[in-house]
Amino acid sequence: MDLAFTQDEEDFRHGLRAWLADVLPTLPDRPDPADWPARRAYDCGWQRMLYDAGYAGLHWPKDAGGRGATPTQHLIFLEETERAGAPYVGANFVGLLHAGPTIAAEGTPAQRARWLPPILRGDQVWCQGFSEPDAGSDLASLRTRAERDGDSYVVSGSKIWTSHAEVADWCELLVRTTPMGPGTPKHRGITWLALPMDAPGVTVRPLRTLAGTAEFAEVFLDEVRVPVDHRIGAENDGWRVTMVTLSFERGTAFVGEVIACRRVLEALARTAKANGRWDDPVLRRRLGRIAAACAALWRLTQWNVSEAQRTGGVPGVGGSVFKLRFSEVRQELYEAAAEVLGPDALDAGHEWVADRLSSLSYTIAAGTSQIQRNIVAERILGLPKGR
Ligand SMILES: Cc1cc2nc3c(=O)[nH]c(=O)nc-3n(C[C@H](O)[C@H](O)[C@H](O)COP(=O)(O)OP(=O)(O)OC[C@H]3O[C@@H](n4cnc5c(N)ncnc54)[C@H](O)[C@@H]3O)c2cc1C
Repeated sequence: MDLAFTQDEEDFRHGLRAWLADVLPTLPDRPDPADWPARRAYDCGWQRMLYDAGYAGLHWPKDAGGRGATPTQHLIFLEETERAGAPYVGANFVGLLHAGPTIAAEGTPAQRARWLPPILRGDQVWCQGFSEPDAGSDLASLRTRAERDGDSYVVSGSKIWTSHAEVADWCELLVRTTPMGPGTPKHRGITWLALPMDAPGVTVRPLRTLAGTAEFAEVFLDEVRVPVDHRIGAENDGWRVTMVTLSFERGTAFVGEVIACRRVLEALARTAKANGRWDDPVLRRRLGRIAAACAALWRLTQWNVSEAQRTGGVPGVGGSVFKLRFSEVRQELYEAAAEVLGPDALDAGHEWVADRLSSLSYTIAAGTSQIQRNIVAERILGLPKGR
């Protein structure tokens, strides 16, 4: 990537900046984090504004309904929206950042035409039904069964930790279409389905986190009929499709948040200067180290985004390096925030306190740090597999 901006890119930046300056003041107040229907309405409303202005699916290929923007334009978009304090994807996280890109990469033309436009318009929200009570890190051990019956699969089983399932229309669902057995390794026999969340037999039970909100849910599936044409990729080839989904989830899905961390860091420095904690050289050094880590993560992001574009749009294994480091830096950031806040760090209503609690989940969600380290060791460093 050429790090100097072309005139086109500068024009793109200025156009976007002007649009943001116009529309952001017209947005309604941000909803209560505990009110998922209101959060969905807010996030989808913002997505619709992006769509109407031609900024939805900016870097998606044109034949998937996107704008086919260059990696540099994509990065400019992330920088400018974050700089202006625009909303992040929110409830559209799964649809925009990994289910949609997976369908764009692996779906048939009919599937792309069916599912991608409503995601881009903010009309339909997706969730992710991968993890099960006994299949998290070891995802390939999943047991939710899908039996073929004519033109449908009949699906039974349960999923857990399904983020915002109660407000989702669709679920990227992993099922087992061939039982595990001596002749069938567990990675085979898995299939990726688009599950309509309003299908008979789907029950969603929200789970409350230590922050007091229900961020995710258990999803129970009792003989749910899913049409065969809702399958993305071939039957029993779902593990390969899953790797595509996870590469988007780890590779590019968190990039906007790196810039958000830099903004929080600046705010921490301002607060520390105002409340006298800035005089502490240990704290200053700590904030400096986090700033350096954020700068390195942003460079890694630029590299990952360019690399994904160069290799046909699907991010590579470098996403695991990013995810590993980013999730840890985010925790360091909010630990530092607690120090800057002092006694106010006990105020559960403070935004940084809520973010500190949620930062704990970042080293677990989308694959734990231990799993990312295994991937880096085996697939990047070429070290032998652990036993
Ligand atoms: C905020 C949040 C949102 C989430 N949203 C979703 C969602 O929308 N959809 C979804 O499907 N899932 C979701 N998850 C689930 C997430 O993917 C799993 O929690 C994660 O993969 C870990 O699985 P587990 O919880 O079963 O832990 P386990 O797999 O049981 O792991 C327990 C511990 O053992 C370690 N461990 C396990 N295997 C190994 C190994 N081979 N080597 C070294 N250490 C190992 C792990 O690192 C961990 O520390 C979410 C999780 C969180 C925290």
